[in-house]
Amino acid sequence: MTDTLSDSRTSSRVFTEGVPVVVEDVRRRSAAERQEILADPGFGRYFTDSMFVARYRTGEGWYDARLTSYAPLQMDPSTAALHYAQSIFEGLKAYAQPDGTVATFRPTANAARFTRSARRLAMPPVPEEAFLAAVDALVDSDREWVPTGSDQTLYLRPYQLASEPFLGVRPANEYLFLVIASPAGAYFSRGVQPVSVFLSEDYIRAAPGGTGDVKCAGNYAASLLAQEQAIAAGCDQVVWLDAFEKRYVEEMGGMNLCFVLGSGDDAEIVTPELTGTLLPGITRDSLLALARDMGYTVTERRFSVEEWRQGAADGTVTETFACGTAAVITPVGGVKARTGDFVVGDGTPGPISMRLREALLDIQHGRVADTRGWLHQVA
Ligand SMILES: *Cc1c(COP(=O)(O)O)cnc(C)c1O
Repeated sequence: MTDTLSDSRTSSRVFTEGVPVVVEDVRRRSAAERQEILADPGFGRYFTDSMFVARYRTGEGWYDARLTSYAPLQMDPSTAALHYAQSIFEGLKAYAQPDGTVATFRPTANAARFTRSARRLAMPPVPEEAFLAAVDALVDSDREWVPTGSDQTLYLRPYQLASEPFLGVRPANEYLFLVIASPAGAYFSRGVQPVSVFLSEDYIRAAPGGTGDVKCAGNYAASLLAQEQAIAAGCDQVVWLDAFEKRYVEEMGGMNLCFVLGSGDDAEIVTPELTGTLLPGITRDSLLALARDMGYTVTERRFSVEEWRQGAADGTVTETFACGTAAVITPVGGVKARTGDFVVGDGTPGPISMRLREALLDIQHGRVADTRGWLHQVA
């Protein structure tokens, strides 16, 4: 019996019941080429050597799971996702650990959210253990691509799209599930800088009963014009308000928002409650847990622009930060609105924002003990 690496790897991984992960010979760039990219990866510009692909067909279920060379997809021009956006995604990261291993952060939470997104878009969910197996297989295959520089990570992008060539409007009968990976540099390469935000008063992101609480591609397509308005107004990011009154803060671009009321150990952290129009961020959830452990009061409730503005003026609201996988925590410095601009704090990153940021980064990069079981060892 031959005992090649490739044989043992082919047989050892299972995508889902009865569907093995076939591991192909991946075309790999040279170590020199990889090092050059990893020296300054930026975000979402470069992709690793491998990708994970699995297919689904109604009646057959998931089949043909493989780890293969990163390459363009061939698609029929009538591919359903290209027309009606039946398409969802996730975003998570792999972190090089001090002991040389690689770990992902709360991947089961991403798997669960991916399932919820799939159900909302009338897609067959990828079984959660299959999602995890796919992510693990890709990270393991491309572990050399996990950067080891300070605050560098390997960003992972699982996604699912309707691949059936068909223009009728109904849930497709064929799907692709893919995972690709992109090395990511430190989000703030020159120190953490607060962003300025623009309140979107013309456009909305989500309404009750819509898709605001899931990660579907269409949410982002519909957000781009408001983001352009924000840039035109000299701001970095757009802040979304509730659809009816345009009075309550929902989130910022692709990140959740938190407001710090008061200061020191008595500070309270307020974040918009999950009303069904906000995306339940895993970073948000993690930071709220850390904040509670640190002894801060954490409140999930509606938070109005008026309370934000008044609080910033009278000193009640001492800090505002946005949070998400890509940047962990981004402080918000200035706010631009038709009803008047205002500044939060003194325009520099607040101490509680920075404390929470460091605490989460320390866990993710393995610099402190992971007492909550948030890290998932991959390779
Ligand atoms: C992904 C996303 C977030 C942040 O979620 P994390 O799990 O923390 O990365 C927040 N808002 C929107 C709209 C998103 O798509």
